[in-house]
Amino acid sequence: MKNPFHIMIIPTLGCCSDCAYCWSSEEDSPIMSIQTIQDTVAWLKEYRDDPVTITFHGGEPLLAGPEFYRQALPLLSEGLAHLTPEFALQSNLWKMTDEMAEALVPYHVPIGSSIDGPREVNDPQRGTGYYEKTMRGYEIARSHGLSVRFICTFTNRSVQHREEIFDYFMEKGFPMKLHPALPSLRDDSPEEWALPPEEYGELLVYLLDRYLENLDRSEIMNINDLVRCVFTRHGTVCTYVDCMGSTYAIGPDGGIYPCYRFVGMPDFLMGYVSDNPTMEELAESKGWKLMEEYRSYVDTACGDCAHITYCRGGCPYNAIARTSGRIEGVDPHCPAYARIFDEINDRLNREMYEENPISGRSSRFRKKKVKPGILSLVQKIISN
Ligand code: SF4
Ligand code: SF4
Repeated sequence: MKNPFHIMIIPTLGCCSDCAYCWSSEEDSPIMSIQTIQDTVAWLKEYRDDPVTITFHGGEPLLAGPEFYRQALPLLSEGLAHLTPEFALQSNLWKMTDEMAEALVPYHVPIGSSIDGPREVNDPQRGTGYYEKTMRGYEIARSHGLSVRFICTFTNRSVQHREEIFDYFMEKGFPMKLHPALPSLRDDSPEEWALPPEEYGELLVYLLDRYLENLDRSEIMNINDLVRCVFTRHGTVCTYVDCMGSTYAIGPDGGIYPCYRFVGMPDFLMGYVSDNPTMEELAESKGWKLMEEYRSYVDTACGDCAHITYCRGGCPYNAIARTSGRIEGVDPHCPAYARIFDEINDRLNREMYEENPISGRSSRFRKKKVKPGILSLVQKIISN
Protein backbone atom coordinates (compact mmCIF):
# COMPACT_ATOMS: atom_id res chain seq x y z
CA MET A 1 0.00 0.00 0.00
CA LYS A 2 1.42 3.38 -1.05
CA ASN A 3 1.52 6.00 1.70
CA PRO A 4 -0.30 9.28 0.96
CA PHE A 5 1.85 12.03 -0.55
CA HIS A 6 2.15 14.92 1.89
CA ILE A 7 4.01 18.21 1.47
CA MET A 8 4.41 20.56 4.43
CA ILE A 9 5.15 24.17 3.62
CA ILE A 10 6.73 26.12 6.46
CA PRO A 11 6.32 29.81 5.61
CA THR A 12 8.29 30.73 8.75
CA LEU A 13 9.65 29.14 11.90
CA GLY A 14 8.73 32.30 13.81
CA CYS A 15 5.78 32.24 16.18
CA CYS A 16 3.79 34.92 17.98
CA SER A 17 3.11 32.80 21.07
CA ASP A 18 5.64 31.41 23.48
CA CYS A 19 4.34 28.06 24.73
CA ALA A 20 6.45 26.79 27.60
CA TYR A 21 7.05 23.36 26.07
CA CYS A 22 7.53 24.39 22.43
CA TRP A 23 10.34 22.61 20.60
CA SER A 24 9.93 23.98 17.11
CA SER A 25 9.74 27.76 16.76
CA GLU A 26 12.67 30.06 16.05
CA GLU A 27 12.86 33.79 16.65
CA ASP A 28 13.93 35.95 13.68
CA SER A 29 13.06 33.24 11.18
CA PRO A 30 12.49 34.75 7.70
CA ILE A 31 9.18 34.59 5.82
CA MET A 32 9.06 32.43 2.71
CA SER A 33 9.04 34.32 -0.58
CA ILE A 34 6.55 33.77 -3.38
CA GLN A 35 9.51 32.81 -5.55
CA THR A 36 9.99 29.78 -3.25
CA ILE A 37 6.35 28.84 -3.83
CA GLN A 38 6.94 29.08 -7.58
CA ASP A 39 10.06 26.93 -7.23
CA THR A 40 8.04 24.44 -5.18
CA VAL A 41 5.44 24.19 -7.95
CA ALA A 42 8.17 23.68 -10.55
CA TRP A 43 9.80 20.98 -8.41
CA LEU A 44 6.61 19.09 -7.58
CA LYS A 45 5.28 19.16 -11.15
CA GLU A 46 7.41 16.22 -12.17
CA TYR A 47 8.29 14.74 -8.80
CA ARG A 48 5.39 12.37 -8.16
CA ASP A 49 2.10 11.90 -9.92
CA ASP A 50 -0.30 10.97 -7.12
CA PRO A 51 -2.74 13.20 -5.19
CA VAL A 52 -1.03 15.48 -2.71
CA THR A 53 -2.05 17.11 0.54
CA ILE A 54 -0.26 20.40 1.19
CA THR A 55 -0.20 21.57 4.81
CA PHE A 56 0.99 25.02 5.85
CA HIS A 57 2.78 24.56 9.13
CA GLY A 58 5.19 26.48 11.32
CA GLY A 59 6.32 28.13 13.51
CA GLU A 60 3.12 30.08 12.93
CA PRO A 61 2.16 30.05 9.25
CA LEU A 62 -0.32 32.95 9.44
CA LEU A 63 2.62 35.29 10.17
CA ALA A 64 3.20 35.18 6.41
CA GLY A 65 0.10 37.40 6.04
CA PRO A 66 -2.98 37.27 3.79
CA GLU A 67 -1.15 38.43 0.64
CA PHE A 68 1.13 35.37 0.86
CA TYR A 69 -1.90 33.05 0.80
CA ARG A 70 -3.69 35.08 -1.89
CA GLN A 71 -0.71 34.37 -4.14
CA ALA A 72 0.48 30.96 -2.91
CA LEU A 73 -2.84 29.11 -2.96
CA PRO A 74 -3.72 29.76 -6.64
CA LEU A 75 -0.12 29.11 -7.70
CA LEU A 76 -0.12 25.71 -5.98
CA SER A 77 -3.67 24.84 -6.88
CA GLU A 78 -3.39 25.66 -10.58
CA GLY A 79 0.26 24.74 -11.08
CA LEU A 80 -0.27 21.32 -9.51
CA ALA A 81 -3.83 20.73 -10.72
CA HIS A 82 -2.81 17.28 -12.05
CA LEU A 83 -2.02 16.25 -8.43
CA THR A 84 -5.46 17.44 -7.23
CA PRO A 85 -3.95 19.20 -4.22
CA GLU A 86 -5.92 19.46 -1.02
CA PHE A 87 -4.82 22.04 1.52
CA ALA A 88 -4.64 22.23 5.30
CA LEU A 89 -3.17 24.66 7.81
CA GLN A 90 -1.87 24.27 11.35
CA SER A 91 -2.12 27.53 13.30
CA ASN A 92 -2.71 29.00 16.74
CA LEU A 93 -5.17 31.39 14.98
CA TRP A 94 -3.96 34.53 16.73
CA LYS A 95 -3.42 36.20 13.34
CA MET A 96 -6.75 35.10 11.89
CA THR A 97 -8.63 38.07 10.44
CA ASP A 98 -11.54 38.44 8.03
CA GLU A 99 -9.03 39.20 5.28
CA MET A 100 -7.02 36.07 6.06
CA ALA A 101 -10.12 33.88 6.20
CA GLU A 102 -11.28 35.25 2.83
CA ALA A 103 -7.95 34.16 1.31
CA LEU A 104 -8.42 30.59 2.62
CA VAL A 105 -12.13 30.05 1.96
CA PRO A 106 -11.99 29.52 -1.84
CA TYR A 107 -9.52 26.66 -1.26
CA HIS A 108 -11.53 25.02 1.53
CA VAL A 109 -8.52 24.98 3.84
CA PRO A 110 -9.35 23.03 7.01
CA ILE A 111 -7.50 24.34 10.04
CA GLY A 112 -5.86 22.41 12.84
CA SER A 113 -5.36 24.61 15.87
CA SER A 114 -4.13 23.97 19.41
CA ILE A 115 -5.90 24.17 22.74
CA ASP A 116 -4.83 22.09 25.72
CA GLY A 117 -8.19 22.14 27.52
CA PRO A 118 -10.11 24.82 29.40
CA ARG A 119 -8.38 28.17 29.97
CA GLU A 120 -7.25 27.22 33.52
CA VAL A 121 -5.35 24.22 32.12
CA ASN A 122 -4.29 25.74 28.80
CA ASP A 123 -2.84 29.10 29.80
CA PRO A 124 -0.39 27.95 32.50
CA GLN A 125 1.43 25.90 29.87
CA ARG A 126 0.77 27.90 26.69
CA GLY A 127 0.99 31.39 28.20
CA THR A 128 -1.42 33.91 29.68
CA GLY A 129 -3.91 35.13 27.12
CA TYR A 130 -3.33 32.23 24.70
CA TYR A 131 -6.80 30.75 25.17
CA GLU A 132 -8.61 34.00 24.50
CA LYS A 133 -6.56 34.88 21.40
CA THR A 134 -7.00 31.43 19.89
CA MET A 135 -10.73 31.43 20.58
CA ARG A 136 -11.06 34.85 18.97
CA GLY A 137 -9.38 33.49 15.82
CA TYR A 138 -11.56 30.38 16.00
CA GLU A 139 -14.73 32.50 15.98
CA ILE A 140 -13.52 34.47 12.95
CA ALA A 141 -12.60 31.29 11.05
CA ARG A 142 -15.95 29.68 11.89
CA SER A 143 -17.87 32.80 10.87
CA HIS A 144 -16.40 32.32 7.37
CA GLY A 145 -17.36 28.65 7.32
CA LEU A 146 -13.80 27.32 7.74
CA SER A 147 -13.52 24.01 9.58
CA VAL A 148 -11.36 24.10 12.73
CA ARG A 149 -10.20 21.17 14.84
CA PHE A 150 -8.01 21.32 17.91
CA ILE A 151 -4.90 19.43 18.89
CA CYS A 152 -4.53 19.00 22.62
CA THR A 153 -1.00 18.65 23.94
CA PHE A 154 -0.74 16.70 27.16
CA THR A 155 2.23 17.63 29.32
CA ASN A 156 3.31 15.88 32.51
CA ARG A 157 1.30 18.57 34.34
CA SER A 158 -1.88 18.76 32.29
CA VAL A 159 -2.20 14.97 32.24
CA GLN A 160 -3.30 15.28 35.86
CA HIS A 161 -6.39 17.08 34.51
CA ARG A 162 -7.19 14.45 31.91
CA GLU A 163 -10.80 14.04 33.04
CA GLU A 164 -11.46 17.77 32.92
CA ILE A 165 -9.79 18.01 29.51
CA PHE A 166 -11.80 15.16 28.01
CA ASP A 167 -15.04 16.63 29.40
CA TYR A 168 -14.12 20.04 28.00
CA PHE A 169 -13.64 18.70 24.47
CA MET A 170 -16.82 16.64 24.67
CA GLU A 171 -18.96 19.47 26.03
CA LYS A 172 -17.67 21.90 23.42
CA GLY A 173 -18.30 19.34 20.67
CA PHE A 174 -14.63 19.53 19.61
CA PRO A 175 -13.11 16.38 18.13
CA MET A 176 -9.86 15.74 20.02
CA LYS A 177 -6.48 15.05 18.52
CA LEU A 178 -3.80 14.67 21.14
CA HIS A 179 -0.06 15.03 21.22
CA PRO A 180 2.26 14.08 24.04
CA ALA A 181 4.62 16.96 24.90
CA LEU A 182 8.07 16.09 23.53
CA PRO A 183 11.36 16.88 25.24
CA SER A 184 12.37 20.31 23.93
CA LEU A 185 15.61 20.47 21.99
CA ARG A 186 15.78 24.22 22.61
CA ASP A 187 15.85 23.98 26.35
CA ASP A 188 18.40 23.36 29.11
CA SER A 189 15.87 21.14 30.88
CA PRO A 190 14.28 19.25 27.97
CA GLU A 191 12.17 16.95 30.14
CA GLU A 192 10.51 19.72 32.13
CA TRP A 193 7.15 19.38 30.37
CA ALA A 194 7.58 16.11 28.46
CA LEU A 195 5.00 13.40 29.03
CA PRO A 196 6.79 10.17 29.98
CA PRO A 197 5.93 7.24 27.66
CA GLU A 198 4.38 5.11 30.41
CA GLU A 199 2.05 7.95 31.38
CA TYR A 200 1.23 8.51 27.72
CA GLY A 201 0.25 4.82 27.40
CA GLU A 202 -2.01 5.02 30.44
CA LEU A 203 -3.53 8.23 29.09
CA LEU A 204 -4.39 6.52 25.80
CA VAL A 205 -6.09 3.64 27.62
CA TYR A 206 -8.00 6.12 29.81
CA LEU A 207 -9.12 8.05 26.72
CA LEU A 208 -10.11 4.82 24.97
CA ASP A 209 -12.43 4.02 27.88
CA ARG A 210 -13.92 7.50 28.08
CA TYR A 211 -14.40 7.54 24.31
CA LEU A 212 -16.15 4.16 24.28
CA GLU A 213 -18.45 5.29 27.09
CA ASN A 214 -19.35 8.39 25.06
CA LEU A 215 -19.17 7.15 21.49
CA ASP A 216 -22.07 9.19 20.23
CA ARG A 217 -20.96 12.40 21.96
CA SER A 218 -17.22 12.50 21.40
CA GLU A 219 -14.51 11.94 18.83
CA ILE A 220 -10.84 11.16 19.49
CA MET A 221 -8.93 11.08 16.24
CA ASN A 222 -5.87 9.26 17.64
CA ILE A 223 -7.99 6.44 19.03
CA ASN A 224 -9.75 6.12 15.67
CA ASP A 225 -6.33 5.90 14.00
CA LEU A 226 -5.00 3.33 16.46
CA VAL A 227 -8.06 1.11 16.07
CA ARG A 228 -7.87 1.49 12.28
CA CYS A 229 -4.20 0.41 12.43
CA VAL A 230 -5.02 -2.75 14.39
CA PHE A 231 -8.07 -3.59 12.33
CA THR A 232 -6.40 -3.13 8.92
CA ARG A 233 -2.92 -4.26 10.09
CA HIS A 234 -1.45 -1.19 8.39
CA GLY A 235 -0.47 2.24 9.72
CA THR A 236 -2.91 4.98 8.77
CA VAL A 237 -1.03 8.07 10.01
CA CYS A 238 2.60 9.06 9.52
CA THR A 239 3.75 7.91 12.97
CA TYR A 240 2.91 4.30 12.12
CA VAL A 241 4.26 4.00 8.58
CA ASP A 242 7.68 4.48 6.99
CA CYS A 243 7.16 8.17 6.27
CA MET A 244 10.34 8.68 4.24
CA GLY A 245 9.66 9.35 0.58
CA SER A 246 5.99 10.19 1.04
CA THR A 247 6.32 13.22 3.36
CA TYR A 248 8.52 16.26 2.77
CA ALA A 249 8.74 19.68 4.35
CA ILE A 250 9.89 22.87 2.66
CA GLY A 251 11.46 25.44 4.96
CA PRO A 252 11.22 29.25 4.64
CA ASP A 253 14.34 29.36 2.43
CA GLY A 254 13.19 26.53 0.15
CA GLY A 255 15.23 23.83 1.94
CA ILE A 256 13.74 20.34 1.63
CA TYR A 257 13.56 18.17 4.77
CA PRO A 258 11.95 14.80 5.61
CA CYS A 259 9.26 16.47 7.78
CA TYR A 260 8.39 19.82 9.39
CA ARG A 261 9.93 18.61 12.61
CA PHE A 262 13.41 18.58 11.04
CA VAL A 263 13.24 22.01 9.38
CA GLY A 264 16.31 24.05 10.28
CA MET A 265 18.37 21.01 11.34
CA PRO A 266 21.41 20.97 8.99
CA ASP A 267 21.87 17.18 9.20
CA PHE A 268 18.42 16.70 7.67
CA LEU A 269 18.58 19.26 4.88
CA MET A 270 18.24 17.18 1.70
CA GLY A 271 18.29 19.86 -1.03
CA TYR A 272 16.55 23.03 -2.24
CA VAL A 273 13.40 23.36 -4.33
CA SER A 274 15.20 25.96 -6.50
CA ASP A 275 17.55 23.17 -7.69
CA ASN A 276 14.61 21.01 -8.77
CA PRO A 277 16.15 17.83 -7.33
CA THR A 278 15.06 14.36 -8.43
CA MET A 279 14.21 11.69 -5.88
CA GLU A 280 17.54 10.00 -6.68
CA GLU A 281 19.40 13.21 -5.88
CA LEU A 282 17.57 13.67 -2.57
CA ALA A 283 18.31 10.05 -1.73
CA GLU A 284 22.03 10.89 -1.84
CA SER A 285 21.66 13.35 1.09
CA LYS A 286 22.65 12.56 4.64
CA GLY A 287 19.11 13.26 5.87
CA TRP A 288 17.51 10.74 3.52
CA LYS A 289 20.14 8.12 4.34
CA LEU A 290 19.55 8.58 8.07
CA MET A 291 15.83 8.05 7.58
CA GLU A 292 16.48 4.92 5.49
CA GLU A 293 18.90 3.67 8.11
CA TYR A 294 16.19 4.11 10.70
CA ARG A 295 13.76 2.08 8.59
CA SER A 296 16.25 -0.84 8.44
CA TYR A 297 16.99 -0.48 12.14
CA VAL A 298 13.28 -0.85 12.93
CA ASP A 299 13.12 -4.11 10.96
CA THR A 300 15.64 -5.57 13.40
CA ALA A 301 14.88 -3.72 16.64
CA CYS A 302 11.12 -4.26 16.39
CA GLY A 303 11.40 -7.59 14.57
CA ASP A 304 9.86 -9.59 17.42
CA CYS A 305 7.10 -7.12 18.19
CA ALA A 306 3.55 -8.20 17.33
CA HIS A 307 2.72 -4.64 16.26
CA ILE A 308 5.53 -3.99 13.81
CA THR A 309 3.41 -3.96 10.63
CA TYR A 310 1.20 -1.12 11.85
CA CYS A 311 3.62 0.70 14.15
CA ARG A 312 6.92 0.64 12.23
CA GLY A 313 8.94 1.90 15.17
CA GLY A 314 6.92 5.11 15.59
CA CYS A 315 8.24 8.54 14.58
CA PRO A 316 11.86 8.75 13.37
CA TYR A 317 12.12 12.35 14.59
CA ASN A 318 11.34 11.26 18.14
CA ALA A 319 13.94 8.52 17.80
CA ILE A 320 16.87 10.35 16.26
CA ALA A 321 16.57 14.12 16.67
CA ARG A 322 17.72 14.14 20.27
CA THR A 323 20.85 12.17 19.45
CA SER A 324 21.80 14.43 16.50
CA GLY A 325 21.07 11.66 14.06
CA ARG A 326 22.67 8.74 15.91
CA ILE A 327 20.35 5.78 15.83
CA GLU A 328 20.36 4.38 19.35
CA GLY A 329 16.80 3.17 19.73
CA VAL A 330 13.28 3.37 18.36
CA ASP A 331 10.77 6.11 19.17
CA PRO A 332 10.92 6.55 22.97
CA HIS A 333 7.11 6.40 22.98
CA CYS A 334 7.36 2.68 22.18
CA PRO A 335 6.00 1.63 25.63
CA ALA A 336 2.94 3.82 25.03
CA TYR A 337 2.34 2.36 21.57
CA ALA A 338 2.80 -1.20 22.83
CA ARG A 339 0.45 -0.54 25.77
CA ILE A 340 -2.43 0.80 23.65
CA PHE A 341 -1.94 -1.64 20.77
CA ASP A 342 -1.97 -4.56 23.25
CA GLU A 343 -5.10 -3.20 24.86
CA ILE A 344 -6.96 -2.77 21.56
CA ASN A 345 -5.88 -6.18 20.26
CA ASP A 346 -6.85 -7.95 23.50
CA ARG A 347 -10.25 -6.33 23.64
CA LEU A 348 -10.89 -6.93 19.96
CA ASN A 349 -9.97 -10.61 20.27
CA ARG A 350 -12.16 -10.99 23.34
CA GLU A 351 -15.08 -9.37 21.60
CA MET A 352 -14.69 -11.38 18.44
CA TYR A 353 -13.97 -14.80 19.91
CA GLU A 354 -15.44 -14.83 23.41
CA GLU A 355 -18.33 -12.43 23.48
CA ASN A 356 -19.66 -12.46 19.96
CA PRO A 357 -22.61 -14.83 19.49
CA ILE A 358 -21.74 -15.34 15.81
CA SER A 359 -18.39 -16.88 16.81
CA GLY A 360 -20.25 -20.17 17.19
CA ARG A 361 -19.31 -20.70 20.82
CA SER A 362 -21.90 -21.87 23.20
CA SER A 363 -23.45 -19.04 25.16
CA ARG A 364 -22.36 -20.59 28.45
CA PHE A 365 -18.77 -19.71 27.46
CA ARG A 366 -19.66 -16.13 26.77
CA LYS A 367 -18.40 -13.64 29.28
CA LYS A 368 -20.54 -10.80 30.40
CA LYS A 369 -19.59 -7.72 28.39
CA VAL A 370 -18.35 -5.23 30.94
CA LYS A 371 -17.15 -2.43 28.72
CA PRO A 372 -18.42 -0.88 25.51
CA GLY A 373 -16.57 -2.51 22.66
CA ILE A 374 -13.91 -1.81 20.08
CA LEU A 375 -16.22 -3.32 17.46
CA SER A 376 -18.72 -0.52 18.04
CA LEU A 377 -15.94 1.94 17.39
CA VAL A 378 -14.94 0.08 14.22
CA GLN A 379 -18.55 0.38 13.09
CA LYS A 380 -18.53 4.10 13.84
CA ILE A 381 -15.29 4.60 11.90
CA ILE A 382 -16.59 2.66 8.89
CA SER A 383 -19.89 4.51 8.77
CA ASN A 384 -18.24 7.98 8.93
S1 SF4 B 1 9.13 12.27 11.15
FE1 SF4 B 1 7.48 11.75 12.58
S2 SF4 B 1 6.02 13.47 12.49
FE2 SF4 B 1 7.39 13.60 10.69
S3 SF4 B 1 6.28 12.57 9.02
FE3 SF4 B 1 7.66 11.06 9.99
S4 SF4 B 1 6.40 10.06 11.57
FE4 SF4 B 1 5.34 11.95 10.97
S1 SF4 C 1 5.43 -1.00 19.74
FE1 SF4 C 1 7.60 -0.52 20.07
S2 SF4 C 1 8.68 -2.45 19.55
FE2 SF4 C 1 6.60 -2.55 18.66
S3 SF4 C 1 6.83 -1.79 16.55
FE3 SF4 C 1 6.21 -0.06 17.86
S4 SF4 C 1 8.13 0.92 18.46
FE4 SF4 C 1 8.65 -1.14 17.71
